[in-house]
Amino acid sequence: MEILKGIGASSGIALGPVYIYEKPEIYIGTEVIAPGETERETEKYLGAVEKSKQQISIIAKATEQNMGVESAKIFHAHLDIAEDPAIEESVLDKIRTEHKNAMQALWETKEEFCALLQDAEDEYFRDRAFDVADVCERILCNLAGVVPATLQHLPDAVIVVAEDLTPSVTATMDREKVLAFVTEIGGKTAHSAIMARTLEIPAIVGLGGAREKLASGGMIIADGNTGQIRLNPDPDTIAAYEKQKEVLLQEKAVLRELLDKDPVTQDGKRVELCANIGSPKDVEAVLANNGEGIGLFRTEFLYMDSSRFPTEEEQFDAYKRVVQDMAGRPVIIRTLDIGGDKTLPYFTFPSELNPFLGYRAIRMCLDMPEIFKTQLRALLRASAYGKLLIMLPMIISLEEFRAAKVILEECKGELSAQDITFDEEIAIGIMVETPAAVLMADEFAKEVDFFSIGTNDLTQYTLAVDRGNETISSLFSSYHPAVLRAIKMVIDAAHREGKFVGMCGEFAGDEQAVPLLLGMGLDEFSVSASSLLRVKKIIRNWDYTRAVDLAEAALRLKTAAEVETFLGQQTD
Ligand code: PEP
Ligand code: MG
Repeated sequence: MEILKGIGASSGIALGPVYIYEKPEIYIGTEVIAPGETERETEKYLGAVEKSKQQISIIAKATEQNMGVESAKIFHAHLDIAEDPAIEESVLDKIRTEHKNAMQALWETKEEFCALLQDAEDEYFRDRAFDVADVCERILCNLAGVVPATLQHLPDAVIVVAEDLTPSVTATMDREKVLAFVTEIGGKTAHSAIMARTLEIPAIVGLGGAREKLASGGMIIADGNTGQIRLNPDPDTIAAYEKQKEVLLQEKAVLRELLDKDPVTQDGKRVELCANIGSPKDVEAVLANNGEGIGLFRTEFLYMDSSRFPTEEEQFDAYKRVVQDMAGRPVIIRTLDIGGDKTLPYFTFPSELNPFLGYRAIRMCLDMPEIFKTQLRALLRASAYGKLLIMLPMIISLEEFRAAKVILEECKGELSAQDITFDEEIAIGIMVETPAAVLMADEFAKEVDFFSIGTNDLTQYTLAVDRGNETISSLFSSYHPAVLRAIKMVIDAAHREGKFVGMCGEFAGDEQAVPLLLGMGLDEFSVSASSLLRVKKIIRNWDYTRAVDLAEAALRLKTAAEVETFLGQQTD
């Protein structure tokens, strides 16, 4: 039995058949067809349109159930495009009079229609180009007999093996059918890995050549804790797997006893234990694990799952739903953090040598105030329905924070003039995820309402180690003393000004790190919903005074390895 090793990125273990996910590559032939074949090509085209409509209807229905009527609207628009008589006329004309094959006829039609729309003055029509392209590509896939790029409609429960999974494919994949996933690229803090933890799906990332190695199919066991994959396991291994699964279920049952207990140490130090989410539907898991709030709502997925910038109304619906579902518990919503590895299908980012250091997040929002204002207005309106806090990502300077605040005030003024209610005292804080924000934390602390430390990026930028690059993943360690000192600086700076400081990076859910962060004085831990009870158990088992001693000792150590060894020797 062969064993492969990747990076365990989301815990849990699964047994199932391999499903290789490939982005479809479609060959558009230029062969001219014989006059007698025009009817056959016409039928082929109409058959593919019919099939596409069925697929879109299924997606629309599922989206409506999971995300609400508003989110499903886009797919109704896609149905209209699939039925558009002008597109059909153009394709059939090319088949019948120019003797093009169906794929070529559709490809050329798509290019012509998109070019026309892209040239339009009106933004609404320019946006439609993306929808037309999307629908035409789906029909092309169906003509070519290729499955369109999605994991929404899987035939069976499978373990997905892919080169990489974009966050939007991960966000929309069928949770019931994806037992686990394995990707060739990416590290533990890649967005697909974070999403897997949110969805409680075991995941292994950074397993180079996985598609080729697993191409023969068959059953595998994927262990998201160890990063190991066992190919075609023998009956003994399967029995051991069943046993391990049973143990994990028992552990889960024990953790469930903590559901109604507070995150408080043995000697009475209380912290807040919140969760990170990527969409309104993730709130269900947070409530099921009794999270005390949302420490980070990554709103970029709303933008990534759309075929155009989401409207104020669409955003308002999503934010209001989260705030209402959380029923008065605090909800920290981060403004658009796009760029880097997170792109938008309908927006052309500049081509950059270093996109992680480039046009992204708050930089983009300040550069396109109309897009920023749409989100801020939606956030303000939703703030009337519960406790909503606004958080700005990727901040490096006070000017950025102040400029964002000016725009927020402008939005408040507009809403007041329209008699629209919102929380006048709404808190605005920043993510600390750049060394600049750390070094300026004492100044920021005087102006912001709160900090949340984003250790995924803070580690990346402090160590100059790409968080998604598996080749150097061993260098990516939040235990590096430089990162630990940065965290301590931020906590102390916040507390000197009486401000609250949380952590929403993955480090907050790292079992070894929890007592260390507790001892450093962190006020709030925000982790994936599936980690809430595990983290609570650790907090409840520790003494705060002992954690303070532990943190002081750890902060004196000189290497990441020393810190990890030291923490590994502690018992909880
Ligand atoms: C972080 O950088 O730690 C963080 C929480 O933000 P993201 O992972 O979305 O970049
Ligand atoms: Mg970040």
